[in-house]
Amino acid sequence: MTHWSGKVNLLYPLTEDTLAILVEVLRDIPADFEEKEVESILAAGRLKDKMSDIAGLIVKSRPLIEPRAVYAFDNVSRIDGDNIHLRSEHTLRSIILADTLQPGQEIALYVVTIGRKLEEEASELSKANLFGALTLERIGDIAVQKAAAYLRSKIQQRMGRSISNFGPGTGTGKLFSINQQEVLFEILDPLRNIEVRLTPSYLMIPRKSISGVLAASNAEYVACEYCPRKCEFRRKQFSGEYRPVKCNTG
Ligand code: SF4
Repeated sequence: MTHWSGKVNLLYPLTEDTLAILVEVLRDIPADFEEKEVESILAAGRLKDKMSDIAGLIVKSRPLIEPRAVYAFDNVSRIDGDNIHLRSEHTLRSIILADTLQPGQEIALYVVTIGRKLEEEASELSKANLFGALTLERIGDIAVQKAAAYLRSKIQQRMGRSISNFGPGTGTGKLFSINQQEVLFEILDPLRNIEVRLTPSYLMIPRKSISGVLAASNAEYVACEYCPRKCEFRRKQFSGEYRPVKCNTG
């Protein structure tokens, strides 16, 4: 069951050039998963003697997952170099967003979380059962991805065309620095709205949280394409360093 909280914040005074934006909170969003997804991510075929443990941990995990999201739509007012000036009077700085977005374009900013209970349980379990703790961590990864995918599909429906996700700090962080989390948090106030806080190094607590910007794009942007790291979660082959499309030298 999905609940729209009805929480609406009029954040900024309207002037001729600025736009008040609505920040919405979504609770109890779908984040359910199949047992086989957890088994596959754990390569459980090689862990036959652990199958009943995994099944038990999945049952234990479900009530500990509390998916919530906060999001808002904004519009690009102008782009100047790598700075994307928004109608809400905030400015995002990002090479990839400056290359992809157009003035007037609508974007959605969001933070999704599954809450703190599952990772607290994983941390407690790690004192006695490392495999159990790892399994709960992996379940958390799957659940938060499911919640983010649900939000993305809602936003794609509204935008009416294919969208890409731009996450601060993803890949090498050169294209959209993790410090841009500050802008997202200023706009969305996730601490008050969904109990997600930002550390001084821009990490989110609870850890099983995802933030980003969603926007229509001609080709899907996948950060992995420009990320040389060895990584089990890679979604696209590394194609080399990103070459900026726009010339920013005037
Ligand atoms: S390859 Fe891994 S670290 Fe790099 S962007 Fe993709 S998921 Fe992130």
